[in-house]
Amino acid sequence: MNTHRIVVAGAGYAGVSAALRLARRVPAHVSVTLVSVTDRFVERIRLHQRAAGQDVGDWSLRTLIRGTRIELRIGVIEGIDYRNKLLHVGDDRIGFDTLVLALGSHVDVASVKGVREHAMAVDFGAVAEIHRALQKAAKHRGRVTIVGGGLTGIELASEIAESFADLQVSLVSQARLAGTWSEAARAHVLASLQGFGVRVEEGPHIKAVHAKHLDTDRGALPFDLCIWAGGFVGHSLAWNSGLKVNGRGQALVDAQLRSVSHPNVHVVGDLAAVAPELAPQMPMGCKSAMPAGAWAAENIARRLRGEPEQPLLYAVPFFCVSLGRRDGLIQTAARDGSMTGRVLTDRRGAWLKEFICRSTMWALKMERLGISGIQWVRKRPASEVEAPLPG
Ligand SMILES: Cc1cc2nc3c(=O)[nH]c(=O)nc-3n(C[C@H](O)[C@H](O)[C@H](O)COP(=O)(O)OP(=O)(O)OC[C@H]3O[C@@H](n4cnc5c(N)ncnc54)[C@H](O)[C@@H]3O)c2cc1C
Repeated sequence: MNTHRIVVAGAGYAGVSAALRLARRVPAHVSVTLVSVTDRFVERIRLHQRAAGQDVGDWSLRTLIRGTRIELRIGVIEGIDYRNKLLHVGDDRIGFDTLVLALGSHVDVASVKGVREHAMAVDFGAVAEIHRALQKAAKHRGRVTIVGGGLTGIELASEIAESFADLQVSLVSQARLAGTWSEAARAHVLASLQGFGVRVEEGPHIKAVHAKHLDTDRGALPFDLCIWAGGFVGHSLAWNSGLKVNGRGQALVDAQLRSVSHPNVHVVGDLAAVAPELAPQMPMGCKSAMPAGAWAAENIARRLRGEPEQPLLYAVPFFCVSLGRRDGLIQTAARDGSMTGRVLTDRRGAWLKEFICRSTMWALKMERLGISGIQWVRKRPASEVEAPLPG
């Protein structure tokens, strides 16, 4: 008979990683339940490809967890009752002793007026509609404006411009595009976008989105179709349920990935942000969501064995961005941790980026087979590295 119930809420990169690692680590009397809105695993890192109309495949969650002892429950989590340890899923109540929250993030459609009404957000539920709208706009050489100069905006603009040569594509970013990367990386991204014919507008502050134009401090920027990738915020259930959150709606967690306001709750992936006074910080991304999921699982297993939980040691050694299907960029970290190290580009960059995307699925499949496929660079925060002894 099960004596301890672990429930993982959300079946994206972080949640599936946590559930698979838990299934391997916790003893037989502990149950592991994964709650998901769908029985599919959504490869969010390929949403820009879906928007451009590419067939990127489809993963069954049941297949990803087959042969493990994870129980899959399908339903939308509508509320969390921490006091009575219950998830509200429609009319159902799912009880837990230990909870891992992995509900991810979504495009911020609330901070700028008119986004919700007049722009399309790069979220899973909207990509098929974005694709149809792009096809329609391409028939009359329509103007497509993508807002957001982060990795998602850059990937989206490149992918759309490569797939729809007839469209007039613009990328609008208030911040300097790729401004924190090395000069070589920034120059390559700008040249690549220019090669696709993407018009880059750096600097305008968008005050509001209207039906056919952006209202900016530099005047109106007209469009036929506006796609919004202007930042991501944590799932609203974090603050709705009373967890302490940051300005982006992410639950603040300690170095063991437990909520700072509700220490019995583990929060992983995009929904979590390490409290600012702690290190290491973890950027949103599947590159950190998967290690966080696996680490929360390791910590829960430690606790059940009566051992102390351990802080996550984590470092981002590089990041990568696709620039259509034939170009990509890998930017490594410099010694000081800034993303200004070496750069790999063009076909080799595209190949390596595709390899990295595939490796996320390989890692999950390995976990299912009992092999620790989720790996990361474990770097101690500078504050914890012992200074060398004098002499
Ligand atoms: C176009 C695009 C490209 C990207 N490229 C990269 C990249 O190259 N590298 C990188 O590191 N990151 C990339 N990212 C970011 C990456 O996709 C996210 O950081 C990652 O998905 C976060 O994982 P997660 O598990 O926290 O959240 P998610 O993957 O979003 O998973 C959250 C899960 O929770 C479920 N859920 C939500 N609400 C409920 C509910 N109420 N009830 C039940 N379940 C619910 C969702 O359905 C989903 O399955 C990209 C993102 C986008 C949009």
